[in-house]
Amino acid sequence: MLSQREIFYQHVAQTSKNPMGLTIERAEGCYLYSPEGKKYLDLISGTSVSNVGHNNRYVINAIKQQLDKHMHISVYGEMIQSAQVLLTQKLVAILPEQLNSVYYVNSGSEAVEGALKLAKRYTGRRKIVALKNAYHGGTHGALSLTSSAEHIKAFAPLLPNITLIEINNIDDLKNIDEDTACVIIEPVQGEAGVVKANDQYLNELRKTCSQKGALLIFDEIQSGMGRTGKWFYFQHSGIVPDILLTAKALGGGMPLGAFISSQEIMDSLTHEPVLGHITTFGGHPVCCAAASAAIDVIENEKLIESVKEKSDFFYEFFADNPLVTEVRRSGLLIALQMESAELAIKTCNSCVKHGIIVDNFLFNESAIRIAPPLTISIQEIETACDSMQEIMYKV
Ligand code: PMP
Repeated sequence: MLSQREIFYQHVAQTSKNPMGLTIERAEGCYLYSPEGKKYLDLISGTSVSNVGHNNRYVINAIKQQLDKHMHISVYGEMIQSAQVLLTQKLVAILPEQLNSVYYVNSGSEAVEGALKLAKRYTGRRKIVALKNAYHGGTHGALSLTSSAEHIKAFAPLLPNITLIEINNIDDLKNIDEDTACVIIEPVQGEAGVVKANDQYLNELRKTCSQKGALLIFDEIQSGMGRTGKWFYFQHSGIVPDILLTAKALGGGMPLGAFISSQEIMDSLTHEPVLGHITTFGGHPVCCAAASAAIDVIENEKLIESVKEKSDFFYEFFADNPLVTEVRRSGLLIALQMESAELAIKTCNSCVKHGIIVDNFLFNESAIRIAPPLTISIQEIETACDSMQEIMYKV
């Protein structure tokens, strides 16, 4: 009989030749546990998902209560489902007035697809401006926004009419013109290794989009739901995007995404053609119940208020470490830039062996990702930093 590990490697489709390959049986708070009871401190939150910690009891109870009422009953948008309505009420309450129409989908990539379609349909334009080194997802439309030559080569032809510009390069904004349907940006580029758009750039970008009639899309799939110290990063900057994307932590551990805009813009998906975006499971009631509960947890436990102190601890601990050339961060989305990819990868591998889960970034192999659940305590951070530092010096 094949072992679980053998079935995983032979029959569960792989995304790389060297997956982390840990067997995890249960998870709670900031920890994952192997069947033998080995404990791993999760410093990446399943890639910025578990903001309220793993298996949060409040979220689980909300899921159980929803399960007793109903699971899927209808394709997205046809029936009034209280779990969806309650979540929407909570989301629009934490967002500015103009972001008042929420379209629920299943994933980050689907939120990107929906937003690109919405921008094309609303403006009647076809050109899309995206940023170099961004990551917006793995589906064809989202992948079309990549600057990774390897991905383009492997999967071309992708969407036409994509123009890539550089982050924080104001001169590059001249590429936004009257043909541009939208500009899509991660205000904090996650997979580039936590690279932030500065305030001056964001202000100029907002101004240019408004002048040219292009919609501004903020992909906050990784930076959202409190991770940067506000519900969404744009709330630090004072500007408001036309379309906001969220997923990952939105569902409190369940799969859920959304693209959020104004009623006026969103209305264009209802006609010519009717059903401009269709999704069967988008806004699944169990996921929405979990998402509502996760928002309650973030509010009740004052997790957003705790982000700065926790982020500062990581920053101050590693700022003077000679092996770390730079600490880039936005709240609890942190990159420890190392001198080489080799050192970063060795450190990550050794950390995992020693029970601390960290990894590097898709487009920056020489930086170490730290994005713990927002529920992590200062004590846990201190222990993790001490162990990581010791490991770094050893490898
Ligand atoms: N946008 C950003 C900024 C992301 O970080 C990701 C996932 N890493 C996505 C989009 C795609 O999300 P998903 O994997 O849920 O499709």
